[in-house]
Amino acid sequence: MNPFSASVPPNSPRDANAPALATAGTEYQPRLLLVDDEPRLLSSLYELLQGRGFQLTTASTGNEAIAHLSRLQFDLVLLDLRLPDIGGHEIMDFINERGVGADVIVMSGEVGIDAAIGALKRGAYDYLRKPYSREELLKTVANALKQRRLQEANTRIANQLENSEKMYRYLVDSSPDIIYTLNHEGKFTFINDRAYQLLGYKRDELIGQHYSILVHDEDLERARYVFNERRVDERASRNVELRLKCHAGSSQERTFNNTLMTISLNAIGMHVPDHEVKKLEFFGTYGVARDITDRKRAEEVISYQAYHDILTDLPNRILFKDRLGLAVIQAKRKQTELAVMFIDLDRFKLVNDTLGHVKGDELLQQVAARLKECLRKGDTLARQGGDEFTIVLPELRDRDDARAVADKFLECLHLPFDLDGHEVHISASIGIAIYPSHGESIDELLRHADIAMYQVKGQGKNGHAFYDPSMQEVSHQKIALEQSLRRALENGELEMYYQPQIDAIGGRIVGAEALMRWNHPTRGVVSPGEFLPFAEENGLMIPISDWMIGALCRDMLQWQGIGGGGVRLSLNLSPQYLDRGDFFEKMRGALVRHGIAPSQIEVEITENICIRNPQHAIEQLNKLGQLGVSVAIDDFGTGYSSLAYLHRFPVHTVKIDQSFVKEIHDEHGHYPVILAIISIARGLGLGLIAEGVETEAQARYLRANGCLTMQGYLYHRPMPLGRFVDVLREQGAKTGAALAYHA
Ligand code: C2E
Ligand code: CA
Ligand code: CA
Repeated sequence: MNPFSASVPPNSPRDANAPALATAGTEYQPRLLLVDDEPRLLSSLYELLQGRGFQLTTASTGNEAIAHLSRLQFDLVLLDLRLPDIGGHEIMDFINERGVGADVIVMSGEVGIDAAIGALKRGAYDYLRKPYSREELLKTVANALKQRRLQEANTRIANQLENSEKMYRYLVDSSPDIIYTLNHEGKFTFINDRAYQLLGYKRDELIGQHYSILVHDEDLERARYVFNERRVDERASRNVELRLKCHAGSSQERTFNNTLMTISLNAIGMHVPDHEVKKLEFFGTYGVARDITDRKRAEEVISYQAYHDILTDLPNRILFKDRLGLAVIQAKRKQTELAVMFIDLDRFKLVNDTLGHVKGDELLQQVAARLKECLRKGDTLARQGGDEFTIVLPELRDRDDARAVADKFLECLHLPFDLDGHEVHISASIGIAIYPSHGESIDELLRHADIAMYQVKGQGKNGHAFYDPSMQEVSHQKIALEQSLRRALENGELEMYYQPQIDAIGGRIVGAEALMRWNHPTRGVVSPGEFLPFAEENGLMIPISDWMIGALCRDMLQWQGIGGGGVRLSLNLSPQYLDRGDFFEKMRGALVRHGIAPSQIEVEITENICIRNPQHAIEQLNKLGQLGVSVAIDDFGTGYSSLAYLHRFPVHTVKIDQSFVKEIHDEHGHYPVILAIISIARGLGLGLIAEGVETEAQARYLRANGCLTMQGYLYHRPMPLGRFVDVLREQGAKTGAALAYHA
C-alpha cells in the first residue's frame, strides 16, 4: 500500500488549476461576497465588479452575509463594517472561528482608527476608506486575489515538498540496502533504517561515529579505499565486497556467521560547488551497501560442492588436480620433489556386494577419516571416485618420506572396521609417482601412480610400489589380457588342473581340488588370480563357470575309468555363480548327464558368499546338500563374517587357509588360530582340510593336532588332468581303492 495516498492533498481544481489572473474568459472565476446595508452603495459596487470575471454574491445584512458564508466558499469578502444587525468585526470573527478561507477587504466610512485596527487585527487584507475610488477598489481586489493565489501556490508547493520528502525518506528507509552519507572525516552524517534491521545499530548510535566501527578488521584496508571515495565519475568504487560487524547486543541470539555480514558497496564522493573558488569542494561520501550474505553463503556452498566429494567431505578430483598443479609449480620453482599416490582399496567391491551400498559408503567414510589422520599439513587427500583415493605430498625430502606415509596408510587400514556390528577387514594397494623423475605433468604423474597401484594389485595387493617404466609394459598387458580372455573361452584356452588332497595317515589321495588355468597363446599358463577377477568384473564369470562344470564332469569320467571312483572332486564356486537362480539346475543337469554321483562332489565357497543373500545361498546349498553334494568353507578364518553361518548353512568341511598354515614353522610350537579352527570343526562335526602345506613340520603339526587331510606343494602341485590320472593310476596300483577322508 502506498502510505502517501492519504497525505497527498486532494487534487482540487482550485489547487491545481487556479488561473494566474481573474480575467474574463478563464475557467475559474473568483467568488466575491459584497456586503453593505446601503442599497445604493451595494449596487454600485456590484456594477463596478460585474463583468470582470468574478462570481458576485451580495448581502445587505450581517445575517445574510453569514448565511452566505456558511453555505458557499468565497475567495474575497468586501465588507462594510457598520451593519444594522451584526457588525463587520463579528462577521470577521465568524470567518476566523469557522476557518472560512476567504480574505476580507474592509470598506468603512468610519474615521476612527480603532475600527481599522480591529479589522486588521482580525486578519483583514486591506482597509478601504469610504468613499473609495474605483481604481483604488479594483486594484485592492486584484492585489488581494493575486496574493491569495500566491499563497495557495506556496501551500501547494510546501505540501508537495513535504510529501516528496516523506516519499524519499520512505524509499530510503525501506530500501533493501543500507544507504549512508559520511562527512569528510569518515563519520556518518546519515544512515537509513535498514542499518538497524541488518546490523542492529540504531541511527543515533551511528551518526557521528567513524565508519570503521562497522567494518570487519580484516577488511579495514579495503574499506578505507571505499569509504574515502572522493571520485564521482566512473572510477568511483563499484561493488566492493566488505564484511560488516553486527551490533554485539543484537547478535546474542544469532549465530556467529550472522554477526558478520558481507556487503557489496557502491560509494561516490559528494562535492559542493564553491562559486567563489570555482571548484568543487569535497564534503563527504554517499554510499549504498547491499547485504549479500545469503548470496555469499550460497556461493560458498556451491563452490564447496563443486570441489568436494559429498560422501567423504574430501576434495574431489577437480580440486585435487588444482592442488597438484600448484604443488608441481612450487616444486619446479624450488627444485624439490613431490609424491603423488594412488590408493585403491582391496576387496572393496566384495564389501559393497555382500553388505550393500549403505555399508560400503560407511566404510569409505571411515577409510577417508583414517587416511586423513595420517596426513601432514599441506598434504592433500582426495577421493577420485569409487574406492580410489589420491594424495599429493608436496615438498618431499626424499622418497623415504613417501614410503613412510604409504606405510602409515596401510597400517591405519589394518585394524578392522566396524560397520554396525559387522567387522570388516580391508587393505589397500598404493602406487606412488615422484615428480619430476616419474613425470612432470599432472596427468602423467596420476597415470603413473595408477599404473604402480595396479602393479601392487597384481602382486597380491596390500602394499605400495613406486612407479617404474617397466610397469607400463605390465599395464598394457593387463588391458590386452582382458580382451583376450573373451576369446579364451571360444578358443578352448581354459583348462582345469587338479591338486590332490592327501590323507595324512595313509598317504593316499582322497580328493582333488579343481583349479583353473588359462593357456594363453603368448604368455603361457596364467593363474586364476590373474584373470578370474577380470572375469568377475566383465560378466565372464558365468560362461566360464558353465564351461568349468562341463569340463569337470568330462574329466571325472576319466578318473572313474581308472578306478578313482572314491576320489572326491572339490570345485571352487564363484559368488556370482552361486547367486544365479539356475546354478543348482545346471549343476544337477550336468551330473545326471554324465552319470556322476553327487556324493563325489564338494563345492568350495568362501565365507563371504554366505552373507550376500543368505536366504538364497541357504536354499541353493540346501538343495545341493539334499542332492548329496557337500559344501566346504574355503579360506576359513580370513573372511569377515561371524561363525554363525556354520550353523545355518549345510557345511560339511572347513579348509584351513594357507596363510595360517604358513605360520607353522615348528612342529612343537603353539599356533592358537589353527587350534581354534580345528576345535571348532571338531565341535561341529565337520571335516577338515589344511591347504598350502609345504613343509613336513607343517604336516606333522597339523596331524598331531587332528587335521588329517592335507593339500599343498609338499605333496603335489596342481597338475593337468593327464598327470593327475597318472598319479591316481600309480596309487591304485599301490593301494587299491582309496578311502573317503570324511570321518
Ligand atoms: P583357492 O581356492 O584358495 O585355491 C588354492 C590356491 O592355493 C591355488 O592357487 C593353489 O594352486 C594354491 N596352492 C596349493 N597348494 C599350495 C602350496 O602348498 N603353497 C602355495 N603357496 N600355494 C598353494 P590357484 O590355483 O592360483 O588359485 C587361486 C584361486 O583362484 C583359488 O584359491 C580360487 O579361489 C580361485 N580359483 C581357482 N580355480 C578356480 C575355479 O575353477 N573357479 C573359481 N570360481 N575359482 C577358482
Ligand atoms: Ca579353493
Ligand atoms: Ca583356499
